[in-house]
Amino acid sequence: MAIWNPWHGCRKISPGCANCYVYRRDESIGKDAGIITKTGDYDLPIRKNRQGEYKLSATDGTVYACMTSDFFLAEADEWRQFCWNMIRERKDLSFHIITKRIDRFLQCIPPDWGDGWDHVTICSTCENQDRADYRLPLLLSLPIKHRQIISEPMLGEITLGKYLQTGKIEHITCGGESGPNARPCDLNWILKVRSECMQFGVPFTFKQTGALFIKDGKTYHIERKYQMSQAKKSGYSYDPKQEKRNT
Ligand code: SF4
Repeated sequence: MAIWNPWHGCRKISPGCANCYVYRRDESIGKDAGIITKTGDYDLPIRKNRQGEYKLSATDGTVYACMTSDFFLAEADEWRQFCWNMIRERKDLSFHIITKRIDRFLQCIPPDWGDGWDHVTICSTCENQDRADYRLPLLLSLPIKHRQIISEPMLGEITLGKYLQTGKIEHITCGGESGPNARPCDLNWILKVRSECMQFGVPFTFKQTGALFIKDGKTYHIERKYQMSQAKKSGYSYDPKQEKRNT
């Protein structure tokens, strides 16, 4: 697994952005995350060592792109084509692009995109039902080979069944929000999406509790270091392949 941040900085566009970790982290070191700049890692996928080998080898597997920005950010339009060129060249890797801007997808893809590229997964986020109902029909209608959904921070109860029943969603990840101003996440919301995933055989990951976690109506303050481990320990993640092996 590798992380590739070709540019850094972003613009807040929806409720899920309110406590964006990129802004929080930049503020803590006196930086303004609203300033968007290309990074020194811009050409990481094609960078080579002295032996002429790619620095990212095929064994790195999945490359998570733009984790401190959004790949489809308008401010990055002039930088993106070269990124697609690099992605095209590295078919031995698998690129995972998470976005809140799926509505910009068609104006951002390269001319030879066709029905999508096998080694590229597009993951749309949806923090609430309103954003799910705006973004997910787009995600489903676009020419994409691999589609995933992330609801993190999850800000309310969400119903995703009608999107899952299409059979076009490969994975859903849910989780709460971290940080000092974190909004609460209710276990019931997590379990609702989980049960829909089980109904339609879609793998589900409960990634983190967030800092304020509600269980049986009681709010728990969870320290950062336990937010992921507690979610993992809950055993709520679901893998249909594993279930099959166990039956
Ligand atoms: S889109 Fe993502 S990176 Fe950009 S402001 Fe929103 S949460 Fe932060």
